[in-house]
Amino acid sequence: MELAIVGAGAAGAAAAYALRETDHEVTVFEKSHGVCGRAATRRKHGCTYDHGANYIKADSDRVTELVTETLPIEGLVTVEEPVWTFDHAGQISESDRQEARKWSYEAGITQLAKRLFAETDAKVAFETRVDGLSRDGDGWRLRDIDDGALGRFDAVLLTPPAPQTADLLAATDWDDPLAEELTAAVDAVPFRTIYSVLLHYPFELDVPWYGLVNTDRDHEVGWLSRESCKPGHVPEGELLVAQMSPAWSRRRYDDPSEAVKADAASLVADLLEDDRLADPDWTDRQGWRYALPDEAPPADPLRAAEEHDLYLAGDWVEGDGRVHLAVESGLDTGGRIAADGR
Ligand SMILES: Cc1cc2nc3c(=O)[nH]c(=O)nc-3n(C[C@H](O)[C@H](O)[C@H](O)COP(=O)(O)OP(=O)(O)OC[C@H]3O[C@@H](n4cnc5c(N)ncnc54)[C@H](O)[C@@H]3O)c2cc1C
Repeated sequence: MELAIVGAGAAGAAAAYALRETDHEVTVFEKSHGVCGRAATRRKHGCTYDHGANYIKADSDRVTELVTETLPIEGLVTVEEPVWTFDHAGQISESDRQEARKWSYEAGITQLAKRLFAETDAKVAFETRVDGLSRDGDGWRLRDIDDGALGRFDAVLLTPPAPQTADLLAATDWDDPLAEELTAAVDAVPFRTIYSVLLHYPFELDVPWYGLVNTDRDHEVGWLSRESCKPGHVPEGELLVAQMSPAWSRRRYDDPSEAVKADAASLVADLLEDDRLADPDWTDRQGWRYALPDEAPPADPLRAAEEHDLYLAGDWVEGDGRVHLAVESGLDTGGRIAADGR
């Protein structure tokens, strides 16, 4: 059985992992040069930082067992400090919410997908963007953006964010009434945009929290956290991750990055009432046009597609932007592919 997985994020990695003891030959096509998708890590000036998903949460027993018992635990770090809240007026409050455990890795959150793939024989083709599919008998052919053939497979699993999966489906040559219904269902999944800004300072902040979350969703800053709470990430000083609100992020998405970073630093300085924070010694940024899904698609067309050897997985299939849900989705879908014998 030859299976193509499009996307080497948490869902794609978990699906490959679920198939590790089957005779499926798995080829993963990934448009970027690394694994783990929106759970992303970068290195700069001696720091390691998670500039997409900031942590993996222990909200699922299966993923908790996978992360803390089944996969290697070397370098797994638990964030000990709490998450506090703030409102639209910037009023910061200590939170008494019972928080699930949160993890990353000393080498960054991308270790999750790296460790999942390391347990498999899957081949990962990097810098390979799948641009369309076509039905070929009872299999699928994939092509890249230059119309180059990527091969024929018995089954395909698509894991990009819903808007990108919808684009792929729209570019699919498949003469079946389900094609249109499936594309429309996936295309209707709403996604939030988030602009992440990284702000480094030569001094440490004297605060008790790891993160601050804007609970009324009416502040320009949506989330602010300290990478220094993750052992091994920040050797000196403070590195703040500011995830800007979806409205602000959409408005500023195409503005010059220096202006966006400067404005984000000012907003952070205002929020923490600390003028020094308007003047970081270095910065970085990443725009996530498709950051977080807000709803799940109807299950019926997705399940019906599986009858045609076409599978879909990802956080958006579960209806919420969480790493552990992407892993769950990948594990479940990989399990169904194994059970279907496709
Ligand atoms: C700013 C931000 C903050 C977040 N914070 C948290 C958090 O703190 N905790 C948490 O649990 N979750 C958080 N999330 C959500 C979390 O990152 C996602 O839920 C999870 O990583 C989704 O995994 P996935 O495999 O479903 O999708 P993705 O990670 O998006 O993986 C899809 C992969 O497909 C690839 N791809 C796309 N199109 C193609 C194509 N045509 N051809 C080939 N490859 C393609 C992409 O490059 C990507 O690698 C956050 C996300 C963002 C962006």
